[in-house]
Amino acid sequence: MHLKPVIAANWKLNHGPTDAKAFLQRFLAQTPKLNDRTLVFLPSALTVTTVIDGLRERPEIWVGVQNVHSEAQGAFTGENSVLMARDAGARVVLVGHSERRHVFGETDSQTTAKMAMIAQARLVPMLCVGELLAEREAGRTAEVVERQLAAGLAGLDDQQIATIMLAYEPVWAIGTGRTATPQDASEIHGVLRRALISRVGEKVAGSIPILYGGSVNRGNASQLLAAPDVDGLLVGGASLEADSWASIARA
Ligand code: PEP
Repeated sequence: MHLKPVIAANWKLNHGPTDAKAFLQRFLAQTPKLNDRTLVFLPSALTVTTVIDGLRERPEIWVGVQNVHSEAQGAFTGENSVLMARDAGARVVLVGHSERRHVFGETDSQTTAKMAMIAQARLVPMLCVGELLAEREAGRTAEVVERQLAAGLAGLDDQQIATIMLAYEPVWAIGTGRTATPQDASEIHGVLRRALISRVGEKVAGSIPILYGGSVNRGNASQLLAAPDVDGLLVGGASLEADSWASIARA
C-alpha cells in the first residue's frame, strides 16, 4: 500500500512567535494546498498558538508540539501537558525524539507513559526511534529500534496503535549533515514494519506512516521519500528557513 506522505518540520528550540509569523507569510506565499501529502509543523510550545492562528485558512496543515509531560496536570513546574496541547489546537505530539532521549535522559518507560497519555487524549503520537553510531557499528540497530518501538507501544491497545506515526531517526544522522542512504532507511523501515505487523497485523501496520529523519534537505528529500517503506520525512535544520522548507514540502 502506498500511504499519503507526512512531511513534518521540527523547529526544536528555534522560532518564537515573531519569527514564526514572518516564516508563515513567506512559506504560505509559495505553498499552495497540497492534497497528496500531509504537512506538519512542530514549533516550540510557546509558538504553537501563533502557528495555529497563522494557518487558520489552511486547516489541511497540521500543527503539533515537540514534547509533553507524562502526567496530565499537577506540580510539574516548567512542563506542558497533552491536555494543554489539545486545548491549544495541536493534533500531533512528538515522543522520544533523540534529543529527549540522549540530551534530557528520557527513558523507554517515560516514552511508554507519554504515548499512552497522548493516545488517551486522542492526539496523534509521533514516536521517534533510532540508534547511536556505536550501536549501529556494533550491528545492534534492529535490536535498538525494536526495543524502542515495543516500549512506545507497551501502553496502547490495537485501536490506539492504529492512530500513531513513527519516525526512524538514526542519532548519528541528526543535525550532522550525514544522511542515511535511501537503502539504509528502507532497511530499517522494513524492520519497523515487520515489528508492527507482528504486533497488530498487516492491515493496521500497513496504515501507519513511517517517516525518515536525519539531515534531510532539499537536495536529498525526494530520493528519500521515494525509497520503499519511507512514508514521510521529519526535518529539523532544513525546516527552519521558509524557502528550504517549502521546497522539501513539495518533494
Ligand atoms: C530532527 O530534529 O528530528 C532532525 C531530523 O534534525 P535534522 O534534520 O537537523 O537532522
